[in-house]
Amino acid sequence: MNETEYIVCPRCKQEVFKEAIVCPFCKFGILAYVNGDIDKNGDAVKKLNKKK
Ligand SMILES: [Zn+2]
Repeated sequence: MNETEYIVCPRCKQEVFKEAIVCPFCKFGILAYVNGDIDKNGDAVKKLNKKK
């Protein structure tokens, strides 16, 4: 089953393919956001509780 996952870009509110590296609409760092490297404002997240 190839279920395509989408995430709503926190910046432009468009549905973006979850594996996209950057939002094609606003260039928000989707991959970094999904990975928890940046928050919805695009600010770097301190990795205090980095998961495996
Ligand atoms: Zn966007």
